[in-house]
Amino acid sequence: MSKTEKLSYPFAEKPSFGGLLEVSEGLFWLRVPIPFALDHINLWLLRDGDGWTIIDTGFFSAEVATIWERLLEEFCAGAPIKKIVVTHFHPDHVGMASWLVERTGAELWMSEREFLTVHRVCQPYSEREITVRAIFFERFGLNEKQLASVVNARSSDVEGLPEAPVSYRRLVGGQTLSINGENWNLFSFAGHSPEHICLHNAERNLLISGDQVLPSISPNISVTFYEPQANPLAEYLNSLSRLSELNEETLVLPSHGSVFQGLHRRIDQLEAGHQKQLDRLLEFCRQPRDGKEALEAMFGNRLSAFNLSLGVGEAQAHLNYLVAKRELKQNDEFIPHYQR
Ligand SMILES: [Zn+2]
Repeated sequence: MSKTEKLSYPFAEKPSFGGLLEVSEGLFWLRVPIPFALDHINLWLLRDGDGWTIIDTGFFSAEVATIWERLLEEFCAGAPIKKIVVTHFHPDHVGMASWLVERTGAELWMSEREFLTVHRVCQPYSEREITVRAIFFERFGLNEKQLASVVNARSSDVEGLPEAPVSYRRLVGGQTLSINGENWNLFSFAGHSPEHICLHNAERNLLISGDQVLPSISPNISVTFYEPQANPLAEYLNSLSRLSELNEETLVLPSHGSVFQGLHRRIDQLEAGHQKQLDRLLEFCRQPRDGKEALEAMFGNRLSAFNLSLGVGEAQAHLNYLVAKRELKQNDEFIPHYQR
């Protein structure tokens, strides 16, 4: 596939909410609703011996619980759930995990850092975390009104995730997971989340990509107050170059949008999108700029409180990447400025 060709979407129809579509033998695509702009997440059911393995669980809601209840009774017809696999800690992926573990008795499989992160985000912020988080936004250069909106906004991580799963089995990148007697290679990637798992079936050219590669949006790559100097964009770009070693014919099963082919083309587009933002920042930082100015150069100045906190994280990630590459210098003022 050349760079100018578009992605191909082998399935003309997406399944309706709660409906299933078989995308490869014994592998079913399930779409369930999430109550914000993204509107849906894709989950996967894989035949596994005399039962089923579930990959990702959905954002916790009564509506999604009803969908699972019906599928377990009708589609799975009471057959055992062998494994519940969660790609990463975001609530649309892990939100229903505790409920499903309790309902089915299945073991939950996750990477260690994602499991620990679920536990962290299920705790309300401590007084000190609230203070340190506010200072992070203040040092970014947000004005008082913006600060009030991000500091007071409830963390969306907590919604859709009422309870952290208590125990788990560990998934490790580089190892394999057997599902229905087939080996799925596990990749673990940082950048979008700390230890995001993707599952690759080399025999059948299938990649369950989670949020790591999506067909129509670029996953959020954010710095947070926990590690203000982190360089998640470098980690994310590294993950894309590892995924580009997979076959171009790979059928990609993403967590949002449609099943597609054209992995290399999509990786090129994602890399180009980040490079465009980096080039824009380098041009913009011919004179000293603070984080807020950089954010506005990237995304404009009309972000909602939710998008503002994501945008701050994303802008900081691009700035940190350029500082780490020594293409920008960061001074040591309380509100640091960045310049070429
Ligand atoms: Zn995610």
